[in-house]
Amino acid sequence: MKRSAVTSNATTPKPESLAASALLRAFEQSREGILVTDSNNHIVTVNEAFCRLSGYSPEDLIGQNPRILASGRTSRSLYAAMRHALDSRDYWEGEVWNKHKDGSNYPRHLKISVLRDPDGHFQGHVANYIETDASVEVADRLTYLAYHDPLTNLPNRLAFELQLAQSLRACERTNQQLALMLIDLDNFKNVNDTLGHQIGDQLLQSVAQRLRECVRASDLVARIGGDEFVVVLPEIESPLTAARVASKIQSNLVDSHLITDHVLYATPSIGISLYPLDGRDPGTLLRNADTAMYFAKSAGRNNHQFYTARMNEAAGERLEMENELRQAVAGISPTSSEFSLHFQPQIETTTGRVLGVEALLRWDSPKLGSIPPIRFIPIAEETGLIQPLGDWVIWETCRLIRSMKAQGITGIRVAINISAQQLRHENLILLIRGALACYDLTPQDIELEVTESTAMDKPELTLSILDQLAAMDVMLAIDDFGTGYSSLAYLKHLPIKRLKLDRSFVQDLETDANDAAICSATIALGHSLGLELVAEGVETEAQRDFLARLGCDMLQGYLFSRPMPFEATVAYLKAHLPLNG
Ligand code: C2E
Ligand code: CA
Ligand code: CA
Repeated sequence: MKRSAVTSNATTPKPESLAASALLRAFEQSREGILVTDSNNHIVTVNEAFCRLSGYSPEDLIGQNPRILASGRTSRSLYAAMRHALDSRDYWEGEVWNKHKDGSNYPRHLKISVLRDPDGHFQGHVANYIETDASVEVADRLTYLAYHDPLTNLPNRLAFELQLAQSLRACERTNQQLALMLIDLDNFKNVNDTLGHQIGDQLLQSVAQRLRECVRASDLVARIGGDEFVVVLPEIESPLTAARVASKIQSNLVDSHLITDHVLYATPSIGISLYPLDGRDPGTLLRNADTAMYFAKSAGRNNHQFYTARMNEAAGERLEMENELRQAVAGISPTSSEFSLHFQPQIETTTGRVLGVEALLRWDSPKLGSIPPIRFIPIAEETGLIQPLGDWVIWETCRLIRSMKAQGITGIRVAINISAQQLRHENLILLIRGALACYDLTPQDIELEVTESTAMDKPELTLSILDQLAAMDVMLAIDDFGTGYSSLAYLKHLPIKRLKLDRSFVQDLETDANDAAICSATIALGHSLGLELVAEGVETEAQRDFLARLGCDMLQGYLFSRPMPFEATVAYLKAHLPLNG
């Protein structure tokens, strides 16, 4: 404050003290309740209106923490928002519920400003309270909605961010660790796509409920996206606590959920980052938890992973692979390609005859070496590269079928894997027609495999495309069957001929009674729908015999042959075709 140049004398009060007394009167006579705290958050003064509004006398209040006015009805997230606004802007305004001395709760419109001395040092707060009417109920509801997810009633992303920032400050002060868990549900999209949003919503509610049950009341559980949840464990002693909670969440979520008459599963993939080890600010912690979650997913779902710096290296490797893949796809030409096709025979169970082969894509990168498709196909799908790459697979397959025929091999159907994006592209029908015509092939020369989840996604569009393909007489198979949530009613409407039983069920056929039961039920069910069953990944004679007993129509797997390059395939077929004759 600037010093006045007017010197004091006995009769004229200093302008400063005039102002001060006016201020004092304004304070005392204001109709707004005013409360002032010091830098230790102790009440230093209150005005008359405040005493009237709260029922307390100045003696009751002075020296106390304003906490004694809290009703317990105002949400934690609102307090977090308040603290955040005060920290960042020195000001907050909103509706709160306070407790009257007589115990009743009353709504107030509250404005808080931070008091600072001329040098900017924190000196306390001044709070103005105004009586509000019943409309505060509405305001209250709006505040609630701003910080909560209406579906699950969990705090939403905004509330999560505010509370995480606040918990981090607390951990910094107390020198303790914090764990941030990012939880993504496995296969949730399948449920939503196959059974509809209403069922999906109920599943999310059920998951939210279970997550809440897994943690202490002081831990935060929030929903920050479709099927993404976070759990914040503040002030933990060691990462072991986080591991324990993650295991508890897994075992709690692994039990099925009964939603209307559906038995559903929603296992979690959990990524965990720790403060201060993996980051000190919300952004870094969330990013690292996300990286860890991504690893949990690729480690086979229903598991948790702690973030490690190594994961970022791996993310760098992934980026490198993406770049290499981009160049490889751009470099495809009629005469050369880093890509090639291998073929794996499909055997008729009862006769042992070879009825077809499946075309499987291979990538030999000059820089990265030979990369298995489970590593590069997902990247191709994420980046859209699967479109040109998939087109190439179709053209190349047709070219090689022509070459096979030229070498006297006939009556072999070649199965082509089609990814979700290819199936939805309006071009697919034209492309297949064009490639068949170009190499003078018939629709019976090929078969298209679409995965179960692809077939169940966007049912109407999928059905119309599959119908057009079937109308062309192209045989359609559902790949990886048993891994999704196909509904029988829907399956009946698809123009498919074959189900390919996923390898994971065949693998444990002899040891896992559950898998054996799934295999036999699927085969029986498929047959009752008039479908042919193909078992993938048959490696042992015991598996073959078991599947034969169940009446599985076709078998494919290392027991018969690994996927082979084209030349070897031709030799294999030539050797086996006499058997076919
Ligand atoms: P998929 O369509 O389920 O293909 C079967 C996979 O199982 C192949 O792996 C095959 O080599 C493997 N396999 C076959 N028999 C056995 C066995 O007895 N034991 C074991 N352990 N594995 C067996 P591959 O070639 O590594 O392909 C992996 C996946 O990559 C394929 O799974 C498919 O989803 C995808 N893929 C491959 N080629 C293409 C393609 O041209 N287009 C698209 N969109 N996806 C492709
Ligand atoms: Ca396949
Ligand atoms: Ca498969």
